[in-house]
Amino acid sequence: MNLHEYQGKEMLNSFGVEIQRGIVAQTPAEAVAAAKKLTEDTGTGWHVVKAQIHAGGRGKGGGVKLAKSLEEVEKISGDIIGMYLITPQTSAQGKLVSQVLVTEDVYYPGESEPSEFYMSVLMNRATGRNMIMYSTEGGMDIEAVADNTPHLIFNEEIDPALGLLPFQARKIAFNLGLSGKAFKEMTRFVSALYTAYVKSDSSLFEINPVLKTSDNRVIAVDAKVTIDENALFRHKDYEALRDLREENPVEVEAKAVGLSYVDLDGNVGCMVNGAGLAMATMDLIKQAGGEPANFLDVGGTADAERVEIAFNLILKDPNVKAILVNIFGGIVRCDRVAKGIIEAYKNIGNIEIPIIVRLEGTNADIAKKLIDESGLDVHSVIEFQEAADKVQEVLA
Ligand code: GDP
Ligand code: MN
Repeated sequence: MNLHEYQGKEMLNSFGVEIQRGIVAQTPAEAVAAAKKLTEDTGTGWHVVKAQIHAGGRGKGGGVKLAKSLEEVEKISGDIIGMYLITPQTSAQGKLVSQVLVTEDVYYPGESEPSEFYMSVLMNRATGRNMIMYSTEGGMDIEAVADNTPHLIFNEEIDPALGLLPFQARKIAFNLGLSGKAFKEMTRFVSALYTAYVKSDSSLFEINPVLKTSDNRVIAVDAKVTIDENALFRHKDYEALRDLREENPVEVEAKAVGLSYVDLDGNVGCMVNGAGLAMATMDLIKQAGGEPANFLDVGGTADAERVEIAFNLILKDPNVKAILVNIFGGIVRCDRVAKGIIEAYKNIGNIEIPIIVRLEGTNADIAKKLIDESGLDVHSVIEFQEAADKVQEVLA
């Protein structure tokens, strides 16, 4: 589950991570009130207005702007709230901005130049350990840094039994070229960040930039936080941070009816019982020259009602050129599933794409017969290979 920047920062701060202060606002009037409050609390003269959407690269898309007066806060918030913000990480239509974060300006001049660093915390799946990835080249596109100057990106692996050790935090501060007060601040920042990562059961933190201010404080200016959904039961308070407006509406709908559905980019929809078979079916589709349009596990009860819901979900995707139903009848009998498919097909009415049904297991032959005699434009097969061939045929 992804958090908004303002939610991520609040969460980080609750674990002692220093952040750029901000207040979220839904309207320009609220933004002005937020700016006034920030001036009282922090003494800041300038403010930054930041679009809150679940996508990075907002600055490049015009979703992060500096305001040098309250009038500018009002004007900029008015422009940003309600806009469709397009960034390198959104679709071409962009994402509707419904709120902004008004923050203190932290790039003020002072005894030294501010510096922007990159820092993320994530799981290295190759070693099974958490790691902190960091770079002196923050603020900009980290993918470009990785491509052009990979030696400027450092990794620090953390032993899960020991946690982040003090020497590791010092090494990071050293590699970032810090000394004196900023060095100390960075070691504190890194330790608090790692504690937050572990305690919140997050799967990704990306802080870009981490800023060393001109008075040598170290703070998170941006925060991308992804919390492991499987651990949400341990954090009931985080559940309220979910913003359904930011999630794929079909996935939200599927979840509400208890189906596990993941939207993908391909052209062949699939409906399968069991996650393992669903994975194998996606491989099969690829082998047949298609690309899966979704992952969908209908679970143990593939009755008419569930099949119909599943068909309707898949049909919402305009890229779907064919649907492959792959059901293994173990406890659920294939003939019952076949009846469910026929009923659902008739109920929906206007299915204009080919459907390939592979039913194997208990009563598979009866099921095939039922489908073949239904008179519907449904191709039924029993063998896995036949299913692949059929997919290839209908895509050709
Ligand atoms: P992103 O574009 O979605 O990654 O959003 P960020 O939160 O990283 O902000 C984008 C950019 O805005 C940063 O890289 C900074 O250059 C700039 N920015 C953020 N906060 C401030 C601030 O307090 N003052 C100034 N002058 N610029 C800021
Ligand atoms: Mn950023």
